[in-house]
This record gives sequence, structure tokens and C-alpha cells, in this order.
Amino acid sequence: MSSFDFSALKPEIHEAIKEMGFENPTPIQALTIPFILEQSRDLLAFAQTGTGKTAAFGLPMLQQAQPGNKIPEGLVLCPTRELCIQIAKDLSNYSKNIPGIHIVPVYGGESIERQMVHLRRGATFVVGTPGRTLDLINRSRLDISKIKWLVLDEADEMLNMGFKEELDSILETAPAERRTMLLSATMPREVLAIAKNYMHDPEEISAGKKNSGTENVNHFFCMVHAPDRFEALKRIIDINPNLYSIVFCRTRTETKEVADHLMQEGYNADALHGDLSQAQRDYVMNRFRLRHLQVLVATDVAARGLDVTDLTHIINYNLPDDREVYIHRTGRTGRAGKTGVAISIIHSREMERIRTLEKLTGRTITYMPVPDGRTICEKQLFNLVDKMENTQVNEEEIESFLPVIMKKLSWMDRDELIKKFISMEFNRFLDYYRDASNINAQIPRKYDSKGKDQPKGTFEIKKKRDRGGQGVAFSRIFLNVGLKNNINPKALISLINETLRDRSIEIGRIDLDRKFSFFEIDSRFASRLVGALNEASYNGMKLQAGFATD
Ligand code: AMP
Repeated sequence: MSSFDFSALKPEIHEAIKEMGFENPTPIQALTIPFILEQSRDLLAFAQTGTGKTAAFGLPMLQQAQPGNKIPEGLVLCPTRELCIQIAKDLSNYSKNIPGIHIVPVYGGESIERQMVHLRRGATFVVGTPGRTLDLINRSRLDISKIKWLVLDEADEMLNMGFKEELDSILETAPAERRTMLLSATMPREVLAIAKNYMHDPEEISAGKKNSGTENVNHFFCMVHAPDRFEALKRIIDINPNLYSIVFCRTRTETKEVADHLMQEGYNADALHGDLSQAQRDYVMNRFRLRHLQVLVATDVAARGLDVTDLTHIINYNLPDDREVYIHRTGRTGRAGKTGVAISIIHSREMERIRTLEKLTGRTITYMPVPDGRTICEKQLFNLVDKMENTQVNEEEIESFLPVIMKKLSWMDRDELIKKFISMEFNRFLDYYRDASNINAQIPRKYDSKGKDQPKGTFEIKKKRDRGGQGVAFSRIFLNVGLKNNINPKALISLINETLRDRSIEIGRIDLDRKFSFFEIDSRFASRLVGALNEASYNGMKLQAGFATD
């Protein structure tokens, strides 16, 4: 790794990025910045959103810029309007202390005349989407004859979105002596063809693994019959009260349908797809960014411009056909050092596709049953009570209202009061899930008892003292560690006891597999345990626990 540090940059730039909180270069920056500054060759970089890629090409470009230049010296091409605005904003921020550097974004869906005015005033760097950029070049409003830098950011996305012809035209028009920098999260054949045809002996730079997008993500799949897909989605949302998620669908129609159904049933959701106008898309994306929406149902293309870093879950309502799309989708969670969860809802004939995806991505995708109604209710109830416990009480303000309220409620005892308050919030779940059935599809025989998805060992814990002669109701819990992680019945029981800080809670049957475990626990403690396990680690591995169905 290079020993490059930001103090090697101009003080004006160093100062600006320090203000933005950049202390040390990210891995990709540590590699690209000294290379771009010290050498003159082209650059081919594997880089994903969230790795600091804008500064990776932007800082050395600005370092060498000639302020006051009215004819552009650099052109950055990127796939979406949102990314275009973001890059232009970032470059402006990095160079805010250098007078005479002007960054102009140009993109479709916005008045071209206004963009022409900005270009006429002078642009040191232009950031554009391919269609609009080519349009401006063809109208002789954008002069790229003097550019020294040509950046292709998210090249794979630009090609996926059908911009090949525009890219070819721009690349052919740009002066031959320019320096080309291509950044891409994946390197399919089409991207390599661009590199081969339009770049000269590029240096290849990759920080970390090429597909590092899924590194901090735990991958799961649920299996249901196709008509139960929507029900499975709702249960996944309901068992995760603090979920903040994108649900990916395959088509616009499906996206609309799923979002409409969710909204009709009272979920805080909306749809993002290509049939919406730009203004509508901006509106939905903004609500999602501000967390006014909990669930965004989207197509792959529409979700591209959305850069939200703290998603808790990515849900694949349908599996994508392409491995790259799976990696891209799931890489949207687990960013910025956080752990994310990716859940794919599949039907019983898609097991093979899960295995293929595992092989292609090098990640294990673990079976997770769709939770049953009772466990969802427990989780929601626990969450509700937890919220109530943590609610701040403004003593002074409510003091004057209390006497009347106390009088009105004086006939109720504590138990009754608690039941009523909880029911007020909770009846929707209770009513809905009262008769909810098990919707998990049978895992096909091939993957069944003899296959590797079934638990390897079953252990019946000797029944403890029966409290008051009544049998204990158990909840079945899934845990993402198994024999491979040195889990055995004794270790699991210790883990549970330590997590609950109580050794007297009854544990039932334990099923251990190589990579995961199931166990039963007294239902009254199940929610607390699942919550605490999800905060804990075992042998350095972040634990993931959830409710399982029998
Ligand atoms: P990007 O991959 O360019 O979209 O950057 C992702 C986020 O990381 C942006 O919010 C940047 O402002 C931020 N960022 C980029 N480089 C650094 C750095 N060296 N230190 C801290 N944050 C950074």
C-alpha cells in the first residue's frame, strides 16, 4: 500500500477536504492519487460507489488543473443525473478554495438552454450523462477539443443503460492525446472492449477484492410457493421493525403492484421505476433518503442513482438473472463498516440458482425460514414495549394534564392499563397474524435430509422442571453459526445463557448444521434473546438470529 497522504496535495485542496472530514485516503485513493500525479498512463480502476472513487480521480485531476481555463480541460461521464449532480458537487467542494475552477454538470431531463448558459460562462470541468453530453457536443455548445482528462465513471452502468453508441461517439471525438480514466464496479466484456479500443496501455488498479460490495453482507434466502411471495415479503418486513430497505423487483409492473399492495396494507412504502417522471422520482428518492419511507420498491435501473449508505436490508422479491446484478443489489447494504442483510425470496424450483449464485459470488447464502405469525407478534410487541420504555417523559408539560387523566383511568388496575395501551398499537398485528399459516415451501428432496441444507445433528435437551405442571411454549430460533464455527450443544447453551444472563431459562431441541443452528427457547424470552444475539458476536463472527418456523 502506498504511503501517500493528503498533505502532498495543494494546501487549498488539502484544507477543503479536511473540512469535509477526509483524514486519510481510502484504499482506492491511496493507489490512484499518486499514480495519476506521478505517471501519465491511462487508468482502469475497479471501484464501487462508497469507496471514495470520486476523490480518487477528482483530487489529482484538480491538483493539476489550470484555474481560469474557460474551455473544458476535463470531461467526466457518468450514468445518471443523480450521480452527475453528486460528482459535480464533490468536485466543487474539493476545489472551493481555488478561484477560477468551475465545474458544470450537464444531464438530461433539465433545460438544455440553462446548461448552455453555464457552459458559455466557462467550465474547467464538465460532468455529464452520455446522451446530454453528446447532444451538447453535436450542437457545438460543448467543446471537448482541448480536454486532457476523460473520465468514464461507472462504465458498466453506462453500458447497461444502453449508452454504448454515445460513449463511442464521444470517445472518438475526444483528442487522442487525452488521458482516459475508466472506473467500474465490474469488468464485463463490453467494458474491457472500451478499454481495449480507446485506452492506451492502462494501469489496472483494484483496491481490495473486485466484488467487495458483498463483504459485510449476510446473505439469506427464504423459500415459498410463488403465490405466497407477497405474504413472505410482508412477514420479513414485520419481523424487522427497524428495517430500512430496498425491495428489488424485475419489472415496472411488478414494482408498482408490490408497492401498491404494501401501501394499501398500511406499510410505509413507495415505488421507484422508469414510468415515473423525473420530478416524481426525485420526490420518492428524497422521501426515502430522509427515511420518511421505510421501504422502497424498485427496479434495478431506477434504483441506480440512489446512493443511500445505511440500508439494513436488501430484499430480492425475485432473483435477478445476472450475477452482477445480484452483487450490485446486495452491495447496497453493509456499507460504511456496518453489517447488512440480503434476503432473496425464491420458490422451490430456484434452489439451483441459489447454489449457482453462491459459486459465482463466493458467498454462502443461508436458508432462513419465513417467520410464523406468533414470532412476528412477539418481535413487534417487544419492539413496542422497548420503545415505550425509552420514551422521554416531559414531566413539567404533562403535569397539569395528569389529574384529569388519573381520575378517568382510576378504575383500571396496572395489568388492565398495560393491556389496553399495548392493544391500541398492536391489534393490527394480532388480528392479521392470528390464523397465519406456515408458508415455507418444502426444500426439494435433493437438498433435503440427505442434502447439506438440513441440520447435521439433533440434540434433545433433557426437560427441566416443569413450571407449575404446565408445559413450556417454545419458539424456534435460527442462528448463523454452526459446527464449522465450533458450536456444539454445550457451547450453544453457554452462549444463550450468557446472552440472557440467566441460566434458568428453558432450552428445547437443538439442531446443528455445519454453518447454522436452530434451537428452541422458552417463548417468553425468545424476543429478548433474538434481539441480544443480533448485537453479539461468537468467535469474532457477528451473530444473526431470527425466528424460525417449525
Ligand atoms: P464515493 O465513493 O466517491 O461516492 O464516496 C463515498 C463517500 O465517502 C462520500 O460521502 C465521500 O465524501 C466520502 N469520502 C471519500 N473519500 C474519503 C476519505 N478519504 N475520508 C473520508 N470520507 C471520504
